Amino acid sequence: MNSIDSDRTSDNTYDAIVAGAGVIGLAIAWELNSQGASVLVVDRDRPGAGTTSVAAGMLAPTGELDFGEPALLEMNTISAGMYPEFVASVERVCGGMLGYQRVGGLHVALDRDEAAELRRVHDLQIESGLRADWLGPGAARELEQGVSPTLTGAVLIEDDGAIDPRVLTAGLLEALEKESVEVRVGTEVTAVRHRHGQVDAVEFKNGDRINTRAFVAAVGAESGRAEWIPDEARPPVRPVKGQIIELKGNPAEPICQRILASERVYLVPRRDGRLIVGATVEERGFDSEVTAGGLHELLREAYRLLPDVSELAFLNAVAGLRPGTPDNLPVVGPTSIDGFFLATGHYRNGILLAPITARAIADVVSGGEICGPMSAASPARFDPARTGASR
Ligand SMILES: Cc1cc2nc3c(=O)[nH]c(=O)nc-3n(C[C@H](O)[C@H](O)[C@H](O)COP(=O)(O)OP(=O)(O)OC[C@H]3O[C@@H](n4cnc5c(N)ncnc54)[C@H](O)[C@@H]3O)c2cc1C
Repeated sequence: MNSIDSDRTSDNTYDAIVAGAGVIGLAIAWELNSQGASVLVVDRDRPGAGTTSVAAGMLAPTGELDFGEPALLEMNTISAGMYPEFVASVERVCGGMLGYQRVGGLHVALDRDEAAELRRVHDLQIESGLRADWLGPGAARELEQGVSPTLTGAVLIEDDGAIDPRVLTAGLLEALEKESVEVRVGTEVTAVRHRHGQVDAVEFKNGDRINTRAFVAAVGAESGRAEWIPDEARPPVRPVKGQIIELKGNPAEPICQRILASERVYLVPRRDGRLIVGATVEERGFDSEVTAGGLHELLREAYRLLPDVSELAFLNAVAGLRPGTPDNLPVVGPTSIDGFFLATGHYRNGILLAPITARAIADVVSGGEICGPMSAASPARFDPARTGASR
C-alpha cells in the first residue's frame, strides 16, 4: 500500500466516488447526479477506453436469450424498456442525438442443423413471453434481400435495438460536464480506506486521497484482479475476450436494415453506413490481441450470412475483455463493507444493462435497497462469509 502524505488529502468530499468511466460508471454517475448526489468519476485511462468502446451496442434481450438464464432475461428486458428515457434524458442535456434505434433483428438459419437449433431458441422466446416471429426463407429475404439464398428459416425480432457505445459514452461525458460532474482521467484507484467497516476515503496512484463515504467499483474486467478491492468484496470476474470488425459501407445504400445474426456471427448496421461484425468469445485471460484466426472466422461467417460484405471496405478490428461471471449475471450492489459497492460482471450485456444498473446503484447509495430482478445480481452470492460457502 502507498504511504500517504496527509497534505494531499483533499478537503473535497463527495457523496460518492465512482471508479471506471466505461458505460457502467458513467451511467451510474449520471443517475446519482440526477438524484442530487455529488459525484466524482475517475478512470486510470480515458473515458470509454475499456471494453465499452469495443462493444457492438446491441440492446437485444430477445436476440441474446439463452437457456437457463431467466433472471438475466428479466434484467435485460427491464433495462431495454428503460433505454428510450435514459437516452432522452442524456440527449436533453448534451444537446445531441445518441442514435438509439429500435432497429429490430433477423436471426437466420443457414442449414438444417441451424434451423433445428433456431426453432429451439424460438420456442424458448415464445415460452418466455417475448415477441419473435418465425419466417420462411421467402419472407425473410423480402425483409433482408442480401441474406444468403441458402437460408432455411429465420426469426424476426422487432423489439431489439442498438446504439453506438462510443456515441453513448461521448454523450454521457458531455452531459456530465454540463451538469458540472467531474470526470478525472489518468487517475488510478490504488486503495479504498475503511474505518470500523465503513468506507471513508479513496487513494490514487498519484498520491492523492479523497474523502467519501460511498465508493463504486465499476472497473469492468479488472475487478476480479484488482488488489485494492478487499478479498471479501472482490468478485469472481474473469476476462472473456471478444474480437470485432468494423467495415465501411455506403449510408445511402445500407447493406442491411436490421441486426442480422446466424448461430456464429452477428452484423450490426450503423446509421453512417458502417457494419459491425462480431464477435469471438475466447477464454484467454487478459490477452486482447487481434488475431488472424479471429478475423478469419468472423469474416468467413459474415460472408456466409450476407455475401455482399465482401464489397465493403475494411475499417478496423479490435478486441475487448468482457467482464464474465460464473453464472453470467452481473455483480451489482453493496458488499460487506459499508459504502463499498460493486457494479461489474456485465459480461455480454453491459451496454444493455447500463440503465438498470445505474438505477440500482443510485438507489442503494442513497440508502435504499436493491429489489426486483437486480437482487439476483447481489455481490453477496459470492461472499463466503455471507453465503456460508467456501470460495
Ligand atoms: C466484442 C464485444 C462485443 C460486445 N457487444 C455488446 C453488445 O452488443 N451489447 C452489450 O450490451 N454489451 C456488449 N458487450 C459487453 C460490454 O462491452 C461490456 O459488458 C461493458 O462494456 C462493460 O462496461 P464497464 O463499464 O463495466 O467496463 P469498461 O468499459 O471496461 O470500463 C471499465 C473502466 O475502468 C477503468 N479502470 C480499471 N481499473 C481502474 C482503476 N484501478 N482506477 C480507475 N479506473 C480503472 C478502465 O480504464 C475502464 O475505462 C460486448 C463486449 C465485447 C468484448
